[in-house]
Amino acid sequence: MISLTQNGNLPAELLDSIEVGIVVLDRDFNVEEWNKFMENHSSIPPHDIKGTSLFNHFSEIDEKWLRLKSGPVFNLKSPVFIIWEQRQYLFKFGGNRPITCQASYMYQNVTMFPLISETGEVERFCIVVYDVTDQALSKIGMERLNEELKTASRIDGLTGLFNRRYWQERFEQSYKLAKRQDKASTAMMLDIDHFKKVNDTYGHQAGDKVIQMLSALIKRCVRETDLAGRYGGEEFAVILTDSSVEKAVIVAERIRRLAERLVVEHDGEEITFTVSLGLAEFDPHSKSSMAWLEKADQALYEAKESGRNKYCISALAGA
Ligand code: GH3
Ligand code: MG
Ligand code: MG
Repeated sequence: MISLTQNGNLPAELLDSIEVGIVVLDRDFNVEEWNKFMENHSSIPPHDIKGTSLFNHFSEIDEKWLRLKSGPVFNLKSPVFIIWEQRQYLFKFGGNRPITCQASYMYQNVTMFPLISETGEVERFCIVVYDVTDQALSKIGMERLNEELKTASRIDGLTGLFNRRYWQERFEQSYKLAKRQDKASTAMMLDIDHFKKVNDTYGHQAGDKVIQMLSALIKRCVRETDLAGRYGGEEFAVILTDSSVEKAVIVAERIRRLAERLVVEHDGEEITFTVSLGLAEFDPHSKSSMAWLEKADQALYEAKESGRNKYCISALAGA
């Protein structure tokens, strides 16, 4: 059985057998108790630290911050919690895990609570240190995985462009923004000419490579703030933000010209191809985002009908 010592302290064997760090300090942060957990992780034995200021031993502890943080312990006689999400650790203890492990330092949850004397004063307080490295790492791992999954669900695997679903989501936002700000933006639809022939002549894999190379070309020709997506198999949609149709024409013509000159090598074959494009500037009277895109698609159709390897501008008004 464990009983309190004569001066009301917890007995040393209890302090030393538990798997948490326990430090008792006076109001000025001089150490009174230092259990085995603290000794093991800091390599400082109790007789070296007891009676000295905590701050003399741990340069990583910001004295001003900790004094401020521990304020409620004295003023309100209430506990204070510091969780690892706020601050990874209070004491910079090395992680006792393999070197390959991502945690080089222990993740800690820390509680500080007052030790109230018989006269009701807070003359001392206790810091309890919990090693929560395992929980923290699994939470971080889970969050990272979720982030990766979120990105993967937005990106088209073949091209690295936004996939259709996510592109449409973002397009809807762009549309609303364009409506509010009444800024010129232009929608551009692009489709590879006679792509079936590329597949038929060189095979599906070669076709995929053409799609990839063209996507990289499109990325190079548009700005980061533009919204580029793979809308269908060999069809792409780009919102050129803050661009009037006159500016968009320059981009479209550049893409057309570079695509025409691009030589895709596959299995010793040299593949060339062309693209057609349709452009539609945002019309403040447009009824929906889809109506806007429809105009660009109509212009693309015209480009196809009138000979391909060219761009056309939507002539439809107020769709
Ligand atoms: P057009 O000039 O009228 O556009 O002629 P087209 O032959 O390009 O006709 P269309 O745009 O309708 O053809 C789309 C073809 O693209 C059909 C399909 O086999 C091919 N395709 C769609 N997705 C992929 C893909 O991911 N990889 C490959 N290799 N081919 C694809
Ligand atoms: Mg096509
Ligand atoms: Mg097509």
